[in-house]
Amino acid sequence: MLYGKDDRNKMQSYTAPVFGSAASECDIPKYRLNHCPMEPRIAYRLVKDELLDEGAARQNLATFCQTYMEDEAVRLMGETLEKNAIDKSEYPRTAEIENRCVNIIADLWNAPAALSYMGTSTVGSSEACMLGGMAMKFRWRARAAAAGIDISARKPNLIISSGYQVCWEKFCVYFDVEMRAVPMSRGHMRLDTGRAIEMADEYTIGVVGILGITYTGEYDDIEALDAKLREYNRNAKVTVPIHVDAASGGLYTPFIEPGLKWDFRLENVVSINTSGHKYGLVYPGIGWIIWKHEEYLPKELVFKVSYLGGETPTMAINFSRSASQILGQYYNFLRYGHEGYRAIHERTRHVAMFLAGTVEATGYFDIYNDGSRLPLVCYKLKGDSGIPWTLYDLADRLQMRGWQVPAYPLPDDLSRTIIQRYVVRADFAMNMAYEFAEDFGRALDELNHAHVLGIDRHEGKVRGFTH
Ligand SMILES: *Cc1c(COP(=O)(O)O)cnc(C)c1O
Repeated sequence: MLYGKDDRNKMQSYTAPVFGSAASECDIPKYRLNHCPMEPRIAYRLVKDELLDEGAARQNLATFCQTYMEDEAVRLMGETLEKNAIDKSEYPRTAEIENRCVNIIADLWNAPAALSYMGTSTVGSSEACMLGGMAMKFRWRARAAAAGIDISARKPNLIISSGYQVCWEKFCVYFDVEMRAVPMSRGHMRLDTGRAIEMADEYTIGVVGILGITYTGEYDDIEALDAKLREYNRNAKVTVPIHVDAASGGLYTPFIEPGLKWDFRLENVVSINTSGHKYGLVYPGIGWIIWKHEEYLPKELVFKVSYLGGETPTMAINFSRSASQILGQYYNFLRYGHEGYRAIHERTRHVAMFLAGTVEATGYFDIYNDGSRLPLVCYKLKGDSGIPWTLYDLADRLQMRGWQVPAYPLPDDLSRTIIQRYVVRADFAMNMAYEFAEDFGRALDELNHAHVLGIDRHEGKVRGFTH
């Protein structure tokens, strides 16, 4: 969010007495720096109280981001907040742990042993996608120039389904790349690979496949995309690579569908990103990106700085940030191991499928995702149901019981369809699911007996859709 002066029009200072302390006699402004210091206890209380009505994060079914970590993980992360992830010379052991995480993830994504893969942690998938996109752009430029193409004649372009997450739009705007969005349609609830190939030309830096479309949780058919690109690349002046945006699927699918080919096993997949803070089970913000081979990461994007004492190469948009998230990721890898991750994700999936069954059993909804892929439930109201209420009304009802559930339109060309989505996370246990199912049933009952005003149907509005 961007903030500014307008915010000053709100209540400008704290007026509540802070539990009988001396601070209650002081003016504590909100939008200017207070003149005097205050006791830590009071500062803590004031900030904590500001957050009171923020809603229970674990009841927020809108986000993929983790809302639970074990006490030991939280302690470890709290004790390592001062470590600067960029400072590989002061914190060489931390750097080594980041290195291990990259290797663990490369292994999960079947990086070929014969190639020298490279990777790094990032703040999240957004930063990772910027890096992946930039690497494709720089590589395209060198190869297109070498192939005798006038690289200044047109903008380079990137092909992706219209179900992209907003970070790709940012990438294209920030780095001046034309986005060629392949529309989703009834017949193609994911990337239409045929149309994607038709859009490719000598100015295409790459195609992005999405493992876990944000809107519905559906996976692009990256194996089919790879097969079509193999064909295309055979005669192409400038070959087109694939980057997989596996923000939500990258640390889920390897455990749940190890047989599905979407990763470095595919010839044209050159880089993959994921969010450690989604199904990597770490608090935000941590992301990862890995390139299959060093050739896919142009050298001019890698920086070596000497002012921190070492000469370690880095690739990042940010510079300083805490390493605690990296250590939290390593804690999880160590703590759960392959079998632990699999078991947690299986349980999460089971809960999602239970919820989908509950939704379907009401007979009001068409299910888009029944939780059997990514553990999300996604549905729309049946077209011919004649029901006077909308999914936005249902979201409001559920919110009264503390559940934050988004309703929003699908992307182009399906933007007239409103859907509702629950993202199930590891801390959403079956007992919570039963409670939710009860509240859901009650909400439907209330709506069916309520006097719903039919004027403002919130058409086209988004409610609580975040990631
Ligand atoms: C969540 C998400 C992102 C952005 O990830 P952050 O880690 O929040 O930056 C990008 N792409 C997809 C497909 C996502 O689901």
